[in-house]
Amino acid sequence: MYKPLEDRYHRMEYRRCGRSGIKLPAISLGLWHNFGHVDNFENGRKIVHTAFDLGITHFDLANNYGPPPGSAEENFGKIIKQDLKNYRDELIISSKAGYYMWPGPYGEWGSRKYIISSCNQSLKRLGLEYVDIFYSHRFDFDTPLEETMGALDQLVRQGKALYIGISNYYPDQTLAAVKILDRLGTPCLINQPRYSMFDRKPEEGLLDVLAEKGIGAIVFSPLAQGLLTNRYLQGIPDDSRAAKTTSPFLNKENLTREVLDKIRQLNEVAISRNQSLAQMAIAWLLIDERVTSVLIGASSAEQLMDNAGSLKNLRFSKDELKKINKILNQKGSHEKI
Ligand code: NDP
Repeated sequence: MYKPLEDRYHRMEYRRCGRSGIKLPAISLGLWHNFGHVDNFENGRKIVHTAFDLGITHFDLANNYGPPPGSAEENFGKIIKQDLKNYRDELIISSKAGYYMWPGPYGEWGSRKYIISSCNQSLKRLGLEYVDIFYSHRFDFDTPLEETMGALDQLVRQGKALYIGISNYYPDQTLAAVKILDRLGTPCLINQPRYSMFDRKPEEGLLDVLAEKGIGAIVFSPLAQGLLTNRYLQGIPDDSRAAKTTSPFLNKENLTREVLDKIRQLNEVAISRNQSLAQMAIAWLLIDERVTSVLIGASSAEQLMDNAGSLKNLRFSKDELKKINKILNQKGSHEKI
């Protein structure tokens, strides 16, 4: 029988999400990988226990997480039922709809039909009456934005979601969505973009828009799916995401000579700060106050504990930041290793 650690809320830092009343842990856990039916259930369960013991209150899902799609929600629902049902009010659980989920014209994108049906399916798989945050997972150029935002607003009014968010929306799309949501009376809580040392796109306007509008930012793939860790310093381990065939989003081709050179140099900077590379990559994101939470993934409880250790050193000297920028801006060979 799982019993959470009593001092869990002293182990985490919590940050206000935009101008809302909600605070999120500086580090949140995402269940995109490692929680599907193809994965070891007990390992996933241990990761969730470790997260909650570390004060991680926020767990991020989507309809399509698995594989197979939907199985991460099913497994997380099982973990809630077994271990966390007495702690539901201490948890922020999110899900999303936007990517392909079922055949035919109503199984993806942003129609009211899809968003509402998908949320109903997610609640069933999770075994929950409501999720805390429900997202539009991607912008849909073919559906009026009023319809997509109207569907999210409807979910809140039906009590199926407490807050709503948008993910992978560019700055102008964010502004348009916020305008509609404000008019509907359901403000946008949060935006979920990809952001890491290797992908700094949100610095080109999105973070400014979010700060100006009082919207939180929870940033995904902060470790560039594992590249910004010690995982690949000595080659490609068989059990890593890049080696597995279950993830089409990171593969051996991503590990070019340029990437490896950068990882090795960044690792030296991390060592000089008494941090692991993963810890430094997370801390580097958290120095920006516009970032509410860093949304990590983990394939083991040990990785998660390593990542939580980033909070012990969130200060960077000007020199360190300069060194990191120089490494990130280097151009190198795209040759595979
Ligand atoms: P990360 O960049 O944090 O990558 C996680 C992977 O990095 C792990 O699976 C593991 O890889 C490796 N890793 C993590 N910690 C360590 C460590 N300390 N040492 C060594 N290796 C480590 O994030 P993800 O790409 O997994 O994304 C995180 C979450 O963001 C998702 O679960 C999801 O919730 C969300 N997301 C949202 C998207 C959207 O469109 N809104 C898109 C993608 C993600 P390995 O498995 O090889 O051990």
